[in-house]
Amino acid sequence: MSDPNCIFCKIASKQIPSTLLYEDDLVVAFKDIAPQVPVHVLIVPKAHVSGLDGLREEHKALIGQITLVGQKLARDLGVAESGYRMVVNSGPDAGQTVFHLHFHLLGGAPMGGKMV
Ligand code: AMP
Ligand code: ZN
Repeated sequence: MSDPNCIFCKIASKQIPSTLLYEDDLVVAFKDIAPQVPVHVLIVPKAHVSGLDGLREEHKALIGQITLVGQKLARDLGVAESGYRMVVNSGPDAGQTVFHLHFHLLGGAPMGGKMV
């Protein structure tokens, strides 16, 4: 459930500090260390999942919870009205660099038009 070499496992278990914004039984959310926009939060399962490709049937509730936490944080951080994105990079072509599933919550400034 936890990978001793994984930086987000260490953040989730508080072995490495982060600016924690939310925590429950399933997920933690913390500020990205290199924000791309004014609001840049990572929403991460506490259990180690490598990424979108590592998801299984048993993770359905987890994914539901991550999206609802994203909605709550967008409201709490004041970007629900102005708009926000939740983005997951999966694999090399998408530029994934940390291989523990994380949803980027992005907002607080125009993001240069549509991604897709
Ligand atoms: P990705 O490129 O989609 O895998 O995203 C990885 C994200 O993790 C990047 O936006 C990094 O800035 C962020 N990141 C890496 N290390 C840390 C850390 N220790 N605390 C917070 N965010 C981090
Ligand atoms: Zn991990």
